[in-house]
Amino acid sequence: MTIDTIINLIKSRHPDTDVTMLKLAYDYALEAHRGQKRASGDDYIQHPLETAHKLVEYNLDMPTIIAGVLHDVPEDTERTIKDIEKNFGPEVAELINGITKLGKIKYRGLERYAENLRKMFVAMAEDVRVIFIKFADRINNLKTLSALPPVKQKRIAMETLEIYAPIANRLGMGELKGELEDLSFPYVYPEEYKWIRQISQKKYEERKKYTEQIIKKVTKELAANSSVKIVRIEGRAKHYFSLYQKLLKHDRDIEKIYDLVAVRLIVERIDDCYNALGHIHGLWAPVPNRIKDYIARPKPNGYQSLHTSVYADDGRIVEFQIRTLKMHEEAEFGIAAHWTYKEYSGKKSSVPLPPEKLKWIKELLAEQEKTTSPENYLTTIKLDFFTSRIFVLTPHGDVIDLPENATPIDFAYHIHTDLGHHCAGARVNDKIAALDTPLKNGDMVEIISDKNRKGPSEDWLEIAQTHMAKHKIQEFFKKERKLSIFKLFGR
Ligand code: MN
Repeated sequence: MTIDTIINLIKSRHPDTDVTMLKLAYDYALEAHRGQKRASGDDYIQHPLETAHKLVEYNLDMPTIIAGVLHDVPEDTERTIKDIEKNFGPEVAELINGITKLGKIKYRGLERYAENLRKMFVAMAEDVRVIFIKFADRINNLKTLSALPPVKQKRIAMETLEIYAPIANRLGMGELKGELEDLSFPYVYPEEYKWIRQISQKKYEERKKYTEQIIKKVTKELAANSSVKIVRIEGRAKHYFSLYQKLLKHDRDIEKIYDLVAVRLIVERIDDCYNALGHIHGLWAPVPNRIKDYIARPKPNGYQSLHTSVYADDGRIVEFQIRTLKMHEEAEFGIAAHWTYKEYSGKKSSVPLPPEKLKWIKELLAEQEKTTSPENYLTTIKLDFFTSRIFVLTPHGDVIDLPENATPIDFAYHIHTDLGHHCAGARVNDKIAALDTPLKNGDMVEIISDKNRKGPSEDWLEIAQTHMAKHKIQEFFKKERKLSIFKLFGR
């Protein structure tokens, strides 16, 4: 990797960009890291260059790219953050400061782990671009992982699967999540990885060929009989790690995976999406219950697309994903799409957070203030924030974002503590449902409340899946016990 490769990529997208500062940053980093080598034997400068290149691929702004070039300078060389601020201004300095403060997040006892995680979320809450640099840094570290001793390999890869990939997912960065997972997969589950490669390789090729014919047919149909403007149509192979996870849910039977190679259709406008869907259903019958309108009802992380599966030629099932270019960029780059190209100004320009997209980071930080032990904090994070999310609807059509397997009890407490305490029953999709019913994506949930109800029952602690609901139920009983002690002593 050279600085020219990076500059050329920037210029190919934004020809008028002034890259003077970037070149200066490169010279500065080159000088600072002179003589240093990576474990792989490469010159150290290769690592910051690869990091910056990834940030350019994600179309991030110039301050972030410059910070990528300089990100290891304060930690690994004589030069300090102060030097960087003097040379490159406060905005770049603060981004690098965010990275440096994080230090190296390692499993060294739960306490340290939890503390480092907290630091990461604080840094993200201040400026979320810090995590993009951390992601880019991590991708290059994973690519050069083979040079490290096995114990380190496993720790870094595991940490990526447990922390970085879920954060990327919550930020809607689907492509990056897939890349992080696939790079870590062979180090964490070597046997499983071998198995996946072995069963999928032939299948992938066969499906790819088959998909080519499907793509030809769709292209012809849309050109002849519709006004739909196709930006791009392609077969997309599923990432290895997500294929692995899906196989675990489907008896390890690859024949049951319909989206091994999905057809991705990118069109110009929203009405093109629906129009194309109609034409595809005209060519082949849709599989019942597989049509998903994530355009009208986006996923909790913001993902938008139309999905459908059809019985294509010879009755084989093919999945289609149809979306506009804008939706596609959001799906690939997620929240990073909000930082697209910005000229380097040298002045500090704090970037406003898209508030609703980052609300969960604030909730996470608030959660940490409440929980006492690092064990609890980690459990909360894993259960409430990083499991797969579903959205369910209130009777008014408001969307509530909950972890997978949440129950009506979780729903009730999520809306309001009092609604939880007075919950007497639930209707899911207009039918009476038990309080321990696992909710599914898109369910409409209504809580039947009873004002005379004294409070939750003890067994709700088993039913509730979210830490938040459990906590509220426990709090209620704590208060109860205090009151009954007062009563006992005739207060
Ligand atoms: Mn680094």
